[in-house]
Amino acid sequence: MNPAAFAVLNLDALQHNLTIVRQQAPNAKIMAVIKGNGYGHGLLRVAEALTNVDAFAVARVDEGMRLRKAGINNKIVVLEGFTSEQELNALLAYRLDVLIHSFAQLDILSKRHERKQMGAWLKIDTGMNRLGFKPIDFPSVYQQLKHSTIIKKPIRFMTHLANADDLNDVMTIKQIALFKETLANIPGERSIANSAGILGWPDALTDWVRPGVMLYGISPFPGRTGAEHGLKPIMEFHSRLIAVKSVNSGETVGYAGSWRCQQATTLGVVAVGYGDGYPRHATIGTPVLVNGQRVPLIGRVSMDMITVDLAEQPNAKPGDPVTLWGKNLPVEEIAEHCNTIPYTLVCGITQRVKQIDS
Ligand code: PLP
Repeated sequence: MNPAAFAVLNLDALQHNLTIVRQQAPNAKIMAVIKGNGYGHGLLRVAEALTNVDAFAVARVDEGMRLRKAGINNKIVVLEGFTSEQELNALLAYRLDVLIHSFAQLDILSKRHERKQMGAWLKIDTGMNRLGFKPIDFPSVYQQLKHSTIIKKPIRFMTHLANADDLNDVMTIKQIALFKETLANIPGERSIANSAGILGWPDALTDWVRPGVMLYGISPFPGRTGAEHGLKPIMEFHSRLIAVKSVNSGETVGYAGSWRCQQATTLGVVAVGYGDGYPRHATIGTPVLVNGQRVPLIGRVSMDMITVDLAEQPNAKPGDPVTLWGKNLPVEEIAEHCNTIPYTLVCGITQRVKQIDS
């Protein structure tokens, strides 16, 4: 018996999507970004399916530790780095490479004089204004790091693009230029491109690329789907109808009565809600597949249930299959109906949702 709400994961498609990364960036090493529980697809599951990449990137130290404890031997880069001695010790103990992005980290490093060889990426803030050193601080920071005994040489360099998903935004050109200018004549490998950089900005292709969302078959660009880039989605999200009933003209449906029935119809109740990761802010009309056919969401999304208008599916019955996103219903399209990006949908799948390999 299938659980009420479940995700089917086509993990074989990870290798296909990796091939697309290689086609786009044939000369680059690949750091597969698997933070956020592998973008909701399962940290270990994704890592085990992608061991032929050059490195994994996670956000947090504990994600890296989990990978090592599970026997993953690839290079692992912790994008948020560390904020304490304790975290630094864990990075060393678990052979995790680190992002150095703040003066507070340099302070911690300056107290350590042992010869522990930790791989390090120096992050340069070229305009994102999140993590990283401003270009003006780069020369002194670089000198300090070069003399740190704990850091393996040569140091590598990274920046992150803020607006690469907008192919008309000149900010990306400026960021790439500033990164290259800051590092002129400095030896060491560089990395700029996330998925949008890989797919849309050839100048962002340097020694390493850092694909995230595209590995999961999802387009980083608004209004486009992964299929348009030759990618295959990994995750499908399914449930089933648990009730079918009639509603009369003038009746309202769900919390706050946000949907009022204009003419008598049949309504379906689906066993999925925000408690499973279906977005609470999905708008009325968001498409849902019932028996493979599109029907519109009506009423508010509750914790465990959503309601759909079955006017076009009058014979649907409890137990019938429902797809929230998957084949013929791209997650990118659902994200647009929810005023969000597809990243949040796949990352938001909760623990209650059983994940099944296809
Ligand atoms: N590099 C860094 C530093 C990131 O934070 C992320 C994700 O947020 C990525 C790469 C991957 O981005 P994307 O999923 O858009 O490919």
